[in-house]
Amino acid sequence: MSNKLDNIVVVGGGTAGWMTALMVKTRIPGAKVTVIESAEVGILGAGEGTTPMFLNFLQYVGISLEDVIKNTKATFKNGLKFTNWDVNNDYYYHEFAPRIDTLNSNKMFHSLQNFGKHQIFYWLNLFNGIPKSKFDFMSMVTDYGSVPFIHAPGKNVNTSILSEYEMVGNIGVHFNASLMAVFLKKIAVERGVVWVEGKVVNVLSKDNGDIKSLVLENSDVISLDFVFDCSGLHRLLVGNHYKTEWVSSSDFLQCDSALPFFTPTDEKLPPYTECIAMKYGWMWRIPLQDRYGCGYVFDSKHITEEEAAKEIETYLGFEPTYPRKNKGAFKFDPGYYKETWVNNCIAIGLSSGFMEPLEATNIGVALINLSDSLSDLSALTRRSDYDKKYFNNQVFKLNSEIAEFLYLHYITQKTDTIFWEQFRNLDKSPKKIQPIIKSLSTSIPSVVPFSKWDAFNYSSFYQIVVGNGILNQELVKEAVTDNKFTESITFDFYKFRAFLDQEAKKCVSHKTLITELGGFKTNDLF
Ligand SMILES: Cc1cc2nc3c(=O)[nH]c(=O)nc-3n(C[C@H](O)[C@H](O)[C@H](O)COP(=O)(O)OP(=O)(O)OC[C@H]3O[C@@H](n4cnc5c(N)ncnc54)[C@H](O)[C@@H]3O)c2cc1C
Repeated sequence: MSNKLDNIVVVGGGTAGWMTALMVKTRIPGAKVTVIESAEVGILGAGEGTTPMFLNFLQYVGISLEDVIKNTKATFKNGLKFTNWDVNNDYYYHEFAPRIDTLNSNKMFHSLQNFGKHQIFYWLNLFNGIPKSKFDFMSMVTDYGSVPFIHAPGKNVNTSILSEYEMVGNIGVHFNASLMAVFLKKIAVERGVVWVEGKVVNVLSKDNGDIKSLVLENSDVISLDFVFDCSGLHRLLVGNHYKTEWVSSSDFLQCDSALPFFTPTDEKLPPYTECIAMKYGWMWRIPLQDRYGCGYVFDSKHITEEEAAKEIETYLGFEPTYPRKNKGAFKFDPGYYKETWVNNCIAIGLSSGFMEPLEATNIGVALINLSDSLSDLSALTRRSDYDKKYFNNQVFKLNSEIAEFLYLHYITQKTDTIFWEQFRNLDKSPKKIQPIIKSLSTSIPSVVPFSKWDAFNYSSFYQIVVGNGILNQELVKEAVTDNKFTESITFDFYKFRAFLDQEAKKCVSHKTLITELGGFKTNDLF
Protein backbone atom coordinates (compact mmCIF):
# COMPACT_ATOMS: atom_id res chain seq x y z
CA MET A 1 0.00 0.00 0.00
CA SER A 2 1.27 3.44 -0.86
CA ASN A 3 1.29 6.14 1.83
CA LYS A 4 0.62 9.80 1.22
CA LEU A 5 3.23 12.57 1.21
CA ASP A 6 0.81 15.51 1.17
CA ASN A 7 1.40 16.76 4.67
CA ILE A 8 5.03 16.85 5.77
CA VAL A 9 6.15 18.16 9.14
CA VAL A 10 9.66 19.20 10.15
CA VAL A 11 10.32 19.40 13.89
CA GLY A 12 13.02 22.01 14.53
CA GLY A 13 13.98 25.39 13.12
CA GLY A 14 17.77 25.20 13.23
CA THR A 15 19.99 24.96 10.14
CA ALA A 16 18.90 21.33 9.62
CA GLY A 17 15.18 22.10 9.98
CA TRP A 18 15.09 24.98 7.50
CA MET A 19 17.38 23.23 4.99
CA THR A 20 15.01 20.24 5.18
CA ALA A 21 11.90 22.38 4.71
CA LEU A 22 13.39 24.11 1.66
CA MET A 23 14.61 20.89 0.07
CA VAL A 24 11.27 19.15 0.63
CA LYS A 25 9.31 22.13 -0.73
CA THR A 26 11.57 22.24 -3.80
CA ARG A 27 11.29 18.49 -4.38
CA ILE A 28 7.53 18.21 -3.67
CA PRO A 29 6.10 21.67 -4.43
CA GLY A 30 2.49 20.50 -3.97
CA ALA A 31 3.00 19.21 -0.44
CA LYS A 32 2.06 21.16 2.67
CA VAL A 33 5.33 21.59 4.59
CA THR A 34 5.15 22.74 8.22
CA VAL A 35 8.09 23.62 10.46
CA ILE A 36 7.48 23.47 14.21
CA GLU A 37 10.06 25.24 16.32
CA SER A 38 10.19 26.18 19.94
CA ALA A 39 11.48 29.66 20.80
CA GLU A 40 11.83 28.49 24.39
CA VAL A 41 14.16 25.64 23.40
CA GLY A 42 16.06 27.74 20.80
CA ILE A 43 18.77 26.51 18.46
CA LEU A 44 22.24 25.26 19.29
CA GLY A 45 23.93 27.89 17.11
CA ALA A 46 27.53 26.62 17.34
CA GLY A 47 29.95 26.53 14.43
CA GLU A 48 29.33 26.83 11.53
CA GLY A 49 31.67 25.74 8.83
CA THR A 50 30.35 23.77 5.89
CA THR A 51 31.63 21.50 3.15
CA PRO A 52 31.02 22.07 -0.60
CA MET A 53 27.73 20.18 -0.18
CA PHE A 54 26.26 23.40 1.17
CA LEU A 55 26.81 25.14 -2.18
CA ASN A 56 25.02 22.25 -3.90
CA PHE A 57 22.13 22.81 -1.50
CA LEU A 58 22.01 26.54 -2.32
CA GLN A 59 21.97 25.76 -6.00
CA TYR A 60 19.26 23.11 -5.65
CA VAL A 61 16.88 25.37 -3.76
CA GLY A 62 17.80 28.46 -5.81
CA ILE A 63 19.50 30.70 -3.24
CA SER A 64 22.43 32.81 -4.41
CA LEU A 65 25.79 32.87 -2.66
CA GLU A 66 25.61 36.68 -2.71
CA ASP A 67 22.46 36.59 -0.59
CA VAL A 68 24.16 34.25 1.90
CA ILE A 69 27.17 36.60 2.13
CA LYS A 70 24.88 39.63 2.60
CA ASN A 71 22.57 38.08 5.19
CA THR A 72 24.54 35.69 7.39
CA LYS A 73 27.95 37.37 7.90
CA ALA A 74 29.31 34.50 5.84
CA THR A 75 32.86 34.03 4.59
CA PHE A 76 34.43 31.48 2.25
CA LYS A 77 36.14 28.30 3.32
CA ASN A 78 38.82 26.57 1.20
CA GLY A 79 39.27 23.89 3.85
CA LEU A 80 40.88 23.53 7.25
CA LYS A 81 44.17 24.74 8.65
CA PHE A 82 45.68 22.46 11.29
CA THR A 83 48.01 24.32 13.62
CA ASN A 84 50.40 22.55 16.04
CA TRP A 85 49.24 19.00 15.28
CA ASP A 86 52.79 17.88 14.61
CA VAL A 87 55.76 18.06 16.97
CA ASN A 88 57.37 20.99 15.14
CA ASN A 89 54.42 23.30 15.92
CA ASP A 90 53.99 23.65 12.19
CA TYR A 91 50.75 23.97 10.21
CA TYR A 92 49.20 22.29 7.22
CA TYR A 93 45.96 22.46 5.27
CA HIS A 94 43.31 19.87 4.54
CA GLU A 95 41.65 21.44 1.55
CA PHE A 96 38.65 20.82 -0.64
CA ALA A 97 39.53 19.51 -4.09
CA PRO A 98 40.62 21.72 -6.98
CA ARG A 99 38.28 21.81 -9.97
CA ILE A 100 39.90 19.40 -12.35
CA ASP A 101 37.87 20.44 -15.37
CA THR A 102 39.31 23.93 -15.09
CA LEU A 103 42.90 23.01 -14.40
CA ASN A 104 43.19 19.97 -16.60
CA SER A 105 44.02 22.03 -19.65
CA ASN A 106 47.44 21.48 -18.15
CA LYS A 107 48.54 17.98 -19.12
CA MET A 108 50.73 17.46 -16.05
CA PHE A 109 47.85 18.15 -13.75
CA HIS A 110 45.62 15.81 -15.69
CA SER A 111 48.09 12.93 -15.48
CA LEU A 112 48.23 13.29 -11.69
CA GLN A 113 44.52 12.84 -11.37
CA ASN A 114 44.72 9.40 -12.87
CA PHE A 115 44.11 6.77 -10.28
CA GLY A 116 47.13 6.11 -8.12
CA LYS A 117 49.20 9.07 -9.21
CA HIS A 118 48.12 11.75 -6.80
CA GLN A 119 50.15 10.41 -3.89
CA ILE A 120 53.29 10.60 -6.03
CA PHE A 121 52.96 14.35 -5.87
CA TYR A 122 52.82 14.21 -2.05
CA TRP A 123 55.90 11.98 -1.95
CA LEU A 124 57.82 14.35 -4.17
CA ASN A 125 56.80 17.28 -2.00
CA LEU A 126 58.09 15.47 1.06
CA PHE A 127 61.27 14.29 -0.67
CA ASN A 128 62.07 17.78 -1.90
CA GLY A 129 61.41 19.42 1.48
CA ILE A 130 58.48 21.57 0.29
CA PRO A 131 56.77 23.29 3.28
CA LYS A 132 53.50 21.52 4.16
CA SER A 133 51.67 24.81 3.89
CA LYS A 134 52.41 24.88 0.13
CA PHE A 135 51.79 21.26 -0.76
CA ASP A 136 49.22 21.59 -3.47
CA PHE A 137 47.16 24.02 -5.47
CA MET A 138 44.46 24.72 -2.88
CA SER A 139 46.99 25.20 -0.07
CA MET A 140 48.90 27.67 -2.24
CA VAL A 141 45.66 29.61 -2.86
CA THR A 142 44.86 29.54 0.85
CA ASP A 143 48.32 30.57 1.96
CA TYR A 144 47.97 33.66 -0.28
CA GLY A 145 44.75 34.55 1.61
CA SER A 146 42.78 33.95 -1.58
CA VAL A 147 39.82 31.89 -2.69
CA PRO A 148 39.76 29.70 -5.81
CA PHE A 149 38.14 32.18 -8.20
CA ILE A 150 40.03 33.66 -11.14
CA HIS A 151 38.79 36.83 -12.77
CA ALA A 152 37.48 35.85 -16.22
CA PRO A 153 34.75 38.27 -17.32
CA GLY A 154 32.50 37.05 -20.12
CA LYS A 155 33.36 33.38 -19.62
CA ASN A 156 30.17 32.49 -17.75
CA VAL A 157 26.59 33.20 -18.68
CA ASN A 158 24.79 33.78 -15.40
CA THR A 159 24.27 37.28 -14.14
CA SER A 160 25.68 37.23 -10.62
CA ILE A 161 28.92 38.96 -9.66
CA LEU A 162 30.45 35.52 -9.45
CA SER A 163 29.89 35.13 -13.17
CA GLU A 164 32.87 37.46 -13.59
CA TYR A 165 34.97 34.64 -12.17
CA GLU A 166 35.99 31.14 -13.09
CA MET A 167 35.82 28.77 -10.13
CA VAL A 168 39.00 26.67 -9.96
CA GLY A 169 38.44 24.88 -6.67
CA ASN A 170 35.66 23.65 -4.41
CA ILE A 171 34.68 25.74 -1.42
CA GLY A 172 32.35 25.76 1.55
CA VAL A 173 31.20 28.73 3.60
CA HIS A 174 31.30 29.79 7.24
CA PHE A 175 28.19 31.53 8.60
CA ASN A 176 26.46 32.74 11.73
CA ALA A 177 23.99 29.91 12.52
CA SER A 178 21.36 32.15 14.11
CA LEU A 179 21.37 34.50 11.12
CA MET A 180 21.28 31.52 8.75
CA ALA A 181 18.17 30.12 10.49
CA VAL A 182 16.41 33.51 10.16
CA PHE A 183 17.52 33.86 6.52
CA LEU A 184 16.40 30.36 5.45
CA LYS A 185 13.15 30.71 7.39
CA LYS A 186 12.25 33.95 5.58
CA ILE A 187 12.83 32.33 2.19
CA ALA A 188 10.96 29.15 3.16
CA VAL A 189 7.94 31.05 4.46
CA GLU A 190 7.87 33.21 1.30
CA ARG A 191 7.74 29.93 -0.67
CA GLY A 192 4.75 28.68 1.26
CA VAL A 193 6.28 26.70 4.13
CA VAL A 194 4.03 26.97 7.19
CA TRP A 195 5.81 28.04 10.36
CA VAL A 196 4.40 27.06 13.76
CA GLU A 197 5.91 28.31 16.99
CA GLY A 198 5.37 25.77 19.75
CA LYS A 199 6.92 23.06 21.83
CA VAL A 200 6.21 19.44 20.93
CA VAL A 201 5.25 17.64 24.16
CA ASN A 202 3.60 14.46 22.94
CA VAL A 203 3.54 12.06 20.00
CA LEU A 204 0.37 10.25 18.84
CA SER A 205 0.89 7.06 16.85
CA LYS A 206 -1.06 4.67 14.62
CA ASP A 207 -1.26 0.95 15.36
CA ASN A 208 1.62 0.25 12.96
CA GLY A 209 3.88 2.63 14.90
CA ASP A 210 3.74 5.47 12.33
CA ILE A 211 3.50 8.92 13.88
CA LYS A 212 -0.01 10.30 13.30
CA SER A 213 0.32 13.72 14.92
CA LEU A 214 2.34 15.84 17.31
CA VAL A 215 0.84 17.56 20.31
CA LEU A 216 2.12 21.02 21.26
CA GLU A 217 2.31 22.54 24.72
CA ASN A 218 -0.67 24.78 23.94
CA SER A 219 -2.66 21.59 23.11
CA ASP A 220 -2.68 22.18 19.35
CA VAL A 221 -2.45 18.92 17.43
CA ILE A 222 -0.43 18.88 14.19
CA SER A 223 -1.28 15.91 11.97
CA LEU A 224 1.16 14.57 9.38
CA ASP A 225 1.93 11.98 6.70
CA PHE A 226 5.70 12.08 7.16
CA VAL A 227 7.96 13.80 9.69
CA PHE A 228 11.60 14.90 9.63
CA ASP A 229 13.09 15.00 13.10
CA CYS A 230 15.42 18.04 13.14
CA SER A 231 15.14 18.61 16.89
CA GLY A 232 18.90 18.88 17.40
CA LEU A 233 20.48 17.41 20.51
CA HIS A 234 16.95 17.04 22.02
CA ARG A 235 16.50 14.06 19.66
CA LEU A 236 12.74 14.01 20.14
CA LEU A 237 11.56 11.37 17.70
CA VAL A 238 14.10 8.87 16.38
CA GLY A 239 15.94 8.96 19.72
CA ASN A 240 13.42 9.63 22.51
CA HIS A 241 10.21 8.36 20.92
CA TYR A 242 11.41 5.39 18.88
CA LYS A 243 14.41 4.71 21.12
CA THR A 244 16.57 3.34 18.33
CA GLU A 245 20.04 2.02 19.06
CA TRP A 246 22.79 4.57 19.70
CA VAL A 247 26.27 3.76 18.39
CA SER A 248 28.77 5.52 20.57
CA SER A 249 32.25 6.27 19.22
CA SER A 250 33.50 7.27 22.67
CA ASP A 251 35.81 4.24 22.84
CA PHE A 252 38.13 5.95 20.39
CA LEU A 253 36.92 9.56 20.02
CA GLN A 254 37.84 10.96 23.40
CA CYS A 255 36.54 14.55 23.22
CA ASP A 256 33.12 14.94 24.83
CA SER A 257 32.76 18.68 25.54
CA ALA A 258 32.92 21.96 23.63
CA LEU A 259 33.25 25.42 25.14
CA PRO A 260 32.27 28.08 22.56
CA PHE A 261 33.51 31.68 22.60
CA PHE A 262 33.89 34.69 20.32
CA THR A 263 36.88 36.91 19.61
CA PRO A 264 36.99 40.21 17.71
CA THR A 265 37.67 40.16 14.01
CA ASP A 266 40.95 41.39 12.54
CA GLU A 267 42.14 42.44 9.10
CA LYS A 268 43.18 38.91 8.06
CA LEU A 269 39.89 37.23 7.08
CA PRO A 270 41.43 33.79 6.56
CA PRO A 271 39.68 31.58 3.99
CA TYR A 272 39.69 28.54 6.26
CA THR A 273 38.58 27.14 9.60
CA GLU A 274 41.60 26.94 11.87
CA CYS A 275 41.91 23.87 14.11
CA ILE A 276 44.53 24.48 16.78
CA ALA A 277 45.85 21.56 18.81
CA MET A 278 45.49 22.30 22.53
CA LYS A 279 46.65 20.37 25.58
CA TYR A 280 43.50 18.28 25.96
CA GLY A 281 41.81 18.56 22.59
CA TRP A 282 41.68 21.26 19.95
CA MET A 283 40.22 24.70 19.29
CA TRP A 284 38.21 25.81 16.26
CA ARG A 285 38.42 29.36 14.92
CA ILE A 286 35.87 30.32 12.28
CA PRO A 287 36.18 33.73 10.62
CA LEU A 288 32.91 35.59 10.08
CA GLN A 289 32.62 39.11 8.71
CA ASP A 290 32.19 40.61 12.19
CA ARG A 291 33.91 38.19 14.60
CA TYR A 292 35.65 34.85 15.03
CA GLY A 293 33.39 32.07 16.28
CA CYS A 294 35.61 29.76 18.29
CA GLY A 295 35.44 26.88 20.72
CA TYR A 296 37.63 24.48 22.66
CA VAL A 297 36.69 20.82 22.11
CA PHE A 298 38.15 18.89 25.01
CA ASP A 299 38.19 15.63 26.92
CA SER A 300 36.43 16.21 30.25
CA LYS A 301 38.15 13.16 31.74
CA HIS A 302 41.29 15.29 31.92
CA ILE A 303 40.19 18.89 32.48
CA THR A 304 37.24 20.82 33.86
CA GLU A 305 35.39 23.60 32.07
CA GLU A 306 37.22 26.20 34.20
CA GLU A 307 40.59 24.71 33.28
CA ALA A 308 39.57 24.73 29.61
CA ALA A 309 38.66 28.44 29.88
CA LYS A 310 42.00 29.16 31.55
CA GLU A 311 43.89 27.41 28.77
CA ILE A 312 41.92 29.36 26.14
CA GLU A 313 42.73 32.66 27.86
CA THR A 314 46.42 31.80 28.21
CA TYR A 315 46.56 30.92 24.51
CA LEU A 316 44.77 34.10 23.43
CA GLY A 317 46.32 36.44 26.00
CA PHE A 318 42.88 37.92 26.83
CA GLU A 319 39.42 36.88 28.00
CA PRO A 320 37.07 36.25 25.06
CA THR A 321 33.27 36.57 25.04
CA TYR A 322 31.50 33.40 26.16
CA PRO A 323 27.99 33.41 24.60
CA ARG A 324 26.51 30.74 26.89
CA LYS A 325 25.39 31.28 30.45
CA ASN A 326 28.20 30.70 33.01
CA LYS A 327 30.50 29.93 30.08
CA GLY A 328 28.64 26.63 29.72
CA ALA A 329 30.28 23.90 27.64
CA PHE A 330 28.16 21.52 25.55
CA LYS A 331 28.48 17.92 26.64
CA PHE A 332 28.07 15.24 23.99
CA ASP A 333 28.49 11.52 23.53
CA PRO A 334 30.22 11.20 20.15
CA GLY A 335 28.13 8.88 18.01
CA TYR A 336 25.06 8.33 15.87
CA TYR A 337 21.89 6.28 15.63
CA LYS A 338 22.10 2.90 13.92
CA GLU A 339 18.78 3.61 12.21
CA THR A 340 17.83 7.15 11.31
CA TRP A 341 14.74 6.21 9.27
CA VAL A 342 12.08 4.57 11.43
CA ASN A 343 8.46 4.16 10.30
CA ASN A 344 7.40 7.54 8.80
CA CYS A 345 10.21 9.52 10.43
CA ILE A 346 13.74 10.41 9.34
CA ALA A 347 16.21 12.22 11.61
CA ILE A 348 18.34 14.92 9.97
CA GLY A 349 21.13 16.96 11.59
CA LEU A 350 22.17 16.73 15.23
CA SER A 351 19.10 14.61 16.01
CA SER A 352 20.63 11.79 13.93
CA GLY A 353 24.09 11.97 15.48
CA PHE A 354 27.13 14.08 16.16
CA MET A 355 30.73 12.92 16.41
CA GLU A 356 32.45 16.21 17.15
CA PRO A 357 33.13 19.40 15.15
CA LEU A 358 36.51 18.34 13.69
CA GLU A 359 36.22 18.36 9.85
CA ALA A 360 32.80 20.11 10.22
CA THR A 361 30.84 17.23 8.76
CA ASN A 362 27.42 17.52 10.44
CA ILE A 363 25.69 19.86 7.99
CA GLY A 364 27.23 18.01 5.03
CA VAL A 365 25.97 14.67 6.38
CA ALA A 366 22.52 16.21 6.91
CA LEU A 367 22.48 17.27 3.26
CA ILE A 368 23.67 13.89 1.97
CA ASN A 369 20.95 12.13 4.01
CA LEU A 370 18.33 14.59 2.85
CA SER A 371 19.15 14.25 -0.82
CA ASP A 372 19.31 10.47 -0.50
CA SER A 373 15.93 10.38 1.20
CA LEU A 374 14.33 12.67 -1.37
CA SER A 375 15.96 11.10 -4.42
CA ASP A 376 13.29 8.40 -4.78
CA LEU A 377 9.94 9.62 -3.46
CA SER A 378 8.36 6.25 -4.10
CA ALA A 379 10.61 4.83 -1.36
CA LEU A 380 9.17 7.38 1.07
CA THR A 381 5.62 6.36 0.22
CA ARG A 382 6.37 2.60 0.02
CA ARG A 383 8.38 2.58 3.27
CA SER A 384 9.37 -1.02 2.75
CA ASP A 385 11.78 -2.69 5.15
CA TYR A 386 14.20 -3.03 2.24
CA ASP A 387 14.16 0.72 1.45
CA LYS A 388 14.61 1.67 5.09
CA LYS A 389 17.38 -0.84 5.60
CA TYR A 390 19.21 0.34 2.49
CA PHE A 391 18.98 3.98 3.57
CA ASN A 392 19.99 3.20 7.16
CA ASN A 393 22.98 1.15 6.04
CA GLN A 394 24.18 4.00 3.83
CA VAL A 395 23.89 6.52 6.69
CA PHE A 396 25.58 4.10 9.08
CA LYS A 397 28.51 3.56 6.67
CA LEU A 398 28.98 7.28 6.20
CA ASN A 399 28.88 7.99 9.93
CA SER A 400 31.20 5.14 10.87
CA GLU A 401 33.75 6.22 8.24
CA ILE A 402 33.64 9.80 9.48
CA ALA A 403 34.19 8.63 13.07
CA GLU A 404 37.20 6.56 11.97
CA PHE A 405 38.64 9.34 9.85
CA LEU A 406 38.34 11.76 12.78
CA TYR A 407 40.23 9.27 14.92
CA LEU A 408 43.10 9.34 12.40
CA HIS A 409 43.61 13.04 13.17
CA TYR A 410 44.51 12.22 16.77
CA ILE A 411 47.29 9.82 15.79
CA THR A 412 50.23 12.16 16.05
CA GLN A 413 53.72 12.17 17.49
CA LYS A 414 52.66 14.59 20.22
CA THR A 415 53.64 13.61 23.72
CA ASP A 416 52.92 16.84 25.61
CA THR A 417 49.97 15.48 27.62
CA ILE A 418 48.31 12.21 28.51
CA PHE A 419 45.45 13.25 26.18
CA TRP A 420 47.66 12.97 23.08
CA GLU A 421 49.60 9.97 24.37
CA GLN A 422 46.44 7.90 24.93
CA PHE A 423 45.57 7.58 21.24
CA ARG A 424 48.58 5.42 20.51
CA ASN A 425 47.58 2.87 23.13
CA LEU A 426 43.82 2.60 22.82
CA ASP A 427 42.59 -1.01 22.99
CA LYS A 428 39.31 -0.22 21.32
CA SER A 429 40.47 1.61 18.24
CA PRO A 430 38.25 1.46 15.15
CA LYS A 431 38.28 -1.49 12.76
CA LYS A 432 38.62 -0.05 9.30
CA ILE A 433 41.38 2.50 9.73
CA GLN A 434 43.38 0.77 12.47
CA PRO A 435 45.28 -1.62 10.14
CA ILE A 436 46.12 1.29 7.83
CA ILE A 437 47.49 3.32 10.75
CA LYS A 438 49.47 0.32 12.01
CA SER A 439 51.02 -0.25 8.61
CA LEU A 440 52.37 3.31 8.47
CA SER A 441 55.65 2.45 10.19
CA THR A 442 56.53 -0.31 7.74
CA SER A 443 54.94 0.70 4.46
CA ILE A 444 53.47 3.57 2.54
CA PRO A 445 49.74 2.85 2.50
CA SER A 446 48.22 2.11 -0.84
CA VAL A 447 45.27 4.02 -2.22
CA VAL A 448 43.29 0.80 -2.61
CA PRO A 449 41.56 0.66 0.81
CA PHE A 450 40.28 4.19 0.26
CA SER A 451 38.54 3.39 -2.99
CA LYS A 452 35.79 1.83 -0.82
CA TRP A 453 35.33 4.89 1.40
CA ASP A 454 32.39 7.23 0.81
CA ALA A 455 33.23 9.88 3.39
CA PHE A 456 36.84 10.81 2.57
CA ASN A 457 39.24 9.77 -0.16
CA TYR A 458 42.91 8.91 -0.17
CA SER A 459 43.90 12.48 -0.88
CA SER A 460 42.31 13.53 2.42
CA PHE A 461 44.06 10.63 4.12
CA TYR A 462 47.44 11.72 2.75
CA GLN A 463 46.94 15.32 3.78
CA ILE A 464 46.35 14.26 7.39
CA VAL A 465 49.13 11.66 7.74
CA VAL A 466 51.67 13.91 6.05
CA GLY A 467 50.47 16.90 8.05
CA ASN A 468 50.61 15.11 11.39
CA GLY A 469 54.06 13.79 10.55
CA ILE A 470 53.21 10.11 10.75
CA LEU A 471 54.04 9.04 7.20
CA ASN A 472 57.42 7.32 7.33
CA GLN A 473 59.74 9.66 5.44
CA GLU A 474 62.51 7.07 5.04
CA LEU A 475 60.09 4.86 3.12
CA VAL A 476 59.12 7.81 0.98
CA LYS A 477 62.78 8.46 0.18
CA GLU A 478 63.27 4.81 -0.77
CA ALA A 479 60.21 4.91 -3.01
CA VAL A 480 61.23 8.12 -4.75
CA THR A 481 64.78 6.95 -5.43
CA ASP A 482 63.59 3.57 -6.72
CA ASN A 483 64.26 3.25 -10.46
CA LYS A 484 60.82 1.87 -11.25
CA PHE A 485 59.28 4.89 -9.61
CA THR A 486 61.54 7.38 -11.37
CA GLU A 487 60.60 5.87 -14.72
CA SER A 488 56.91 6.25 -13.92
CA ILE A 489 57.18 10.01 -13.42
CA THR A 490 56.01 11.65 -16.57
CA PHE A 491 56.11 15.26 -15.49
CA ASP A 492 58.61 17.83 -14.33
CA PHE A 493 57.88 18.33 -10.63
CA TYR A 494 59.20 21.88 -10.29
CA LYS A 495 57.67 23.02 -13.54
CA PHE A 496 54.35 21.61 -12.39
CA ARG A 497 54.59 23.37 -9.02
CA ALA A 498 55.44 26.62 -10.79
CA PHE A 499 52.29 26.22 -12.92
CA LEU A 500 50.15 25.67 -9.80
CA ASP A 501 51.72 28.66 -8.08
CA GLN A 502 51.14 30.87 -11.08
CA GLU A 503 47.44 29.84 -11.16
CA ALA A 504 47.14 30.31 -7.38
CA LYS A 505 48.50 33.85 -7.64
CA LYS A 506 45.75 34.69 -10.14
CA CYS A 507 43.04 33.90 -7.57
CA VAL A 508 41.11 36.76 -5.98
CA SER A 509 41.75 37.70 -2.35
CA HIS A 510 39.13 36.52 0.12
CA LYS A 511 38.50 40.04 1.39
CA THR A 512 38.06 41.46 -2.11
CA LEU A 513 35.50 38.86 -3.10
CA ILE A 514 33.49 39.20 0.13
CA THR A 515 33.40 42.98 -0.40
CA GLU A 516 32.40 42.62 -4.06
CA LEU A 517 29.57 40.29 -3.05
CA GLY A 518 28.13 42.86 -0.66
CA GLY A 519 29.61 41.71 2.65
CA PHE A 520 31.13 43.80 5.49
CA LYS A 521 28.99 46.93 4.93
CA THR A 522 27.05 47.31 8.17
CA ASN A 523 30.04 46.90 10.44
CA ASP A 524 32.61 48.89 8.55
CA LEU A 525 35.26 46.60 9.91
CA PHE A 526 38.54 47.34 8.33
C1 LIG B 1 30.29 22.64 19.38
C2 LIG B 1 29.70 22.35 18.04
C3 LIG B 1 30.32 22.83 16.89
C4 LIG B 1 29.80 22.52 15.62
N1 LIG B 1 30.43 22.94 14.50
C5 LIG B 1 29.96 22.55 13.29
C6 LIG B 1 30.58 22.91 12.09
O1 LIG B 1 31.54 23.68 12.06
N2 LIG B 1 30.08 22.42 10.92
C7 LIG B 1 28.99 21.61 10.87
O2 LIG B 1 28.60 21.17 9.79
N3 LIG B 1 28.35 21.29 11.99
C8 LIG B 1 28.80 21.73 13.17
N4 LIG B 1 28.14 21.39 14.30
C9 LIG B 1 26.84 20.77 14.15
C10 LIG B 1 25.87 21.90 13.77
O3 LIG B 1 25.79 22.78 14.85
C11 LIG B 1 24.53 21.37 13.39
O4 LIG B 1 24.66 20.44 12.34
C12 LIG B 1 23.63 22.46 12.84
O5 LIG B 1 23.63 23.58 13.67
C13 LIG B 1 22.24 21.95 12.71
O6 LIG B 1 21.70 21.81 13.97
P1 LIG B 1 20.23 21.28 14.07
O7 LIG B 1 19.37 22.10 13.20
O8 LIG B 1 20.25 19.82 13.89
O9 LIG B 1 19.89 21.55 15.63
P2 LIG B 1 19.55 22.94 16.36
O10 LIG B 1 20.18 24.08 15.71
O11 LIG B 1 19.84 22.72 17.80
O12 LIG B 1 17.99 23.07 16.16
C14 LIG B 1 17.09 22.25 16.85
C15 LIG B 1 15.69 22.81 16.69
O13 LIG B 1 14.77 21.91 17.28
C16 LIG B 1 13.84 22.65 18.03
N5 LIG B 1 13.27 21.82 19.09
C17 LIG B 1 13.93 21.02 19.96
N6 LIG B 1 13.03 20.45 20.80
C18 LIG B 1 11.80 20.88 20.40
C19 LIG B 1 10.49 20.65 20.86
N7 LIG B 1 10.21 19.85 21.91
N8 LIG B 1 9.46 21.25 20.21
C20 LIG B 1 9.68 22.06 19.15
N9 LIG B 1 10.89 22.32 18.69
C21 LIG B 1 11.95 21.73 19.32
C22 LIG B 1 14.64 23.83 18.56
O14 LIG B 1 13.80 24.88 18.95
C23 LIG B 1 15.48 24.17 17.34
O15 LIG B 1 14.73 25.01 16.49
C24 LIG B 1 28.64 21.73 15.56
C25 LIG B 1 28.00 21.28 16.71
C26 LIG B 1 28.53 21.57 17.95
C27 LIG B 1 27.85 21.05 19.19
